[in-house]
Amino acid sequence: MTKQRQIILDCIRENCCRHLSAIEIFDLVRAEHKISLATVYNSLNYLVDNGHILRVQIAGEPDRFDGNLHAHHHAICDVCGSVIDVNVPGIIASVEDNYGVKVTNFSLNLHCICKNCQNTNAR
Ligand SMILES: [Zn+2]
Ligand SMILES: [Zn+2]
Repeated sequence: MTKQRQIILDCIRENCCRHLSAIEIFDLVRAEHKISLATVYNSLNYLVDNGHILRVQIAGEPDRFDGNLHAHHHAICDVCGSVIDVNVPGIIASVEDNYGVKVTNFSLNLHCICKNCQNTNAR
């Protein structure tokens, strides 16, 4: 792997729970390394294609990138746009049992108001 790809991968893993967008990754990496936005996009495509990271697609928003490779779902805050890892145990087994299909892959985005935003509204 090239040095630049490794730097980007490290950046995503360090900020795993934040689900950074390409622009956010660019800003973080650029603070310490000389890199172009095109290189960031190319590297992200490479890392996704080779299974190092996941691409999280959200309707109406830029793609986010996720270093958490375990099977999980996402809850997206409608107020601040933060992406939270969530587990919905048994959903795959339940779908397979009830509909007789074999689930091969999934992407499930829940929409929510995150804890922070709920607290802000309550004040
Ligand atoms: Zn929020
Ligand atoms: Zn995630």
